[in-house]
Amino acid sequence: MFIYADNAATTKTSEAAIKAMVDIMNNVYGNPSSLHTTGQKAKEALEKARLDVAKCIGANFKEIYFTSGGSEADNQAIISAARFGARKNKKHIVSTKIEHHAVLHTLNKLEKEGFEVTLLDVPENGIVKVEDVKNAIREDTALVTIMYANNEIGTIQPIKEIGAICKEKGVIFHTDAVQAVGHINIDVNEDNIDMLSFSGHKFHGPEGVGVLFARQNIPLVNVIEGGAQERGKRAGTENLPAIVGMAVALKDACSNIEETAKKEIQLRDRLIEGLSTISHSMLNGDKEKRLPGNVNFIFEGIEGESLLLLLDARGIEASSGSACTSGSLDPSHVLLAIGRPHEVAHGSLRLTINSENTLEEMDYIVEQTKEVVEYLRGISPVWEAMMKKENVDK
Ligand SMILES: *Cc1c(COP(=O)(O)O)cnc(C)c1O
Repeated sequence: MFIYADNAATTKTSEAAIKAMVDIMNNVYGNPSSLHTTGQKAKEALEKARLDVAKCIGANFKEIYFTSGGSEADNQAIISAARFGARKNKKHIVSTKIEHHAVLHTLNKLEKEGFEVTLLDVPENGIVKVEDVKNAIREDTALVTIMYANNEIGTIQPIKEIGAICKEKGVIFHTDAVQAVGHINIDVNEDNIDMLSFSGHKFHGPEGVGVLFARQNIPLVNVIEGGAQERGKRAGTENLPAIVGMAVALKDACSNIEETAKKEIQLRDRLIEGLSTISHSMLNGDKEKRLPGNVNFIFEGIEGESLLLLLDARGIEASSGSACTSGSLDPSHVLLAIGRPHEVAHGSLRLTINSENTLEEMDYIVEQTKEVVEYLRGISPVWEAMMKKENVDK
């Protein structure tokens, strides 16, 4: 059996998106800034994609900026809101300890420039407390940036409530919605969102393309300087094939969102139930308020990396956390933030599935994981020491 279970890292590009992209490359190859007919055809395709994308999140097309992906959108949103705040002497930013590095590293950079950043703790269930956000906001707060759903443990944050508080206090609210868009229903107005980032390759579109949604009253700062593309806010000839591919994938995802989620939840819960039967295992993140396709477990006494390699050999492709942290020996900052001890956080496994997976595949994953965990514990001195201690404690 072969099962790709790393959809949070990236998804397989859909047939429909590929077809649309090839069609653009073959037939609509003009530069959208050119005045001739071929250029204007490209411009038309670009603006149609903008309308389609806007519709999926309840935005106005004038508030949609195409970027090179989620990271660029996060950078631009946060830097823009910070600079806007600084003009009015507001140099404080509120965020959380479980954000993606695209957010955390940008905040780090701003801190070095004299901004003050409050990173909120997150309780064990992986869901930020609305009350904590409320209490952290000050007179000089320029921005609150909190992710819609976590990329490692899948927890969905109380975005609407946080947005309402920001609105009431007159603070700009940005959300990194890279894991959420195309997977759960989002409406920027209902959710009180001022700025939102997402990325094409997390919902079966291509890599290297994303969106920044920003309300028109927020002046954007350019991250890429040059031509006047994207109403002067993001220079560079538009990646039209990718933009159109992303729009097609998003439209598909949004029109089937409930149905897809229902299927995924059934698969997810089967997987959670099965993996829970492994001794000394823990589900990371709230059981219900999590992305339909996200499962994240800790198995005590083993190394996540070894687990991944052995599962890979059995046809199961998963992750130990975020792709960015794998390869380094530091445990995931998200697992540490929700209170998992250092030595335990190393034994994590993230399985992110999609609606095309089957219940048989879930059962296969459970069976194989059980075997591999047992094998690894059998050769682990850490596990042996743990068991000895447990017996003594008894
Ligand atoms: C993948 C991801 C990003 C980065 O998006 P790219 O398009 O790869 O730059 C940012 N935030 C979250 C939550 C993500 O999952």
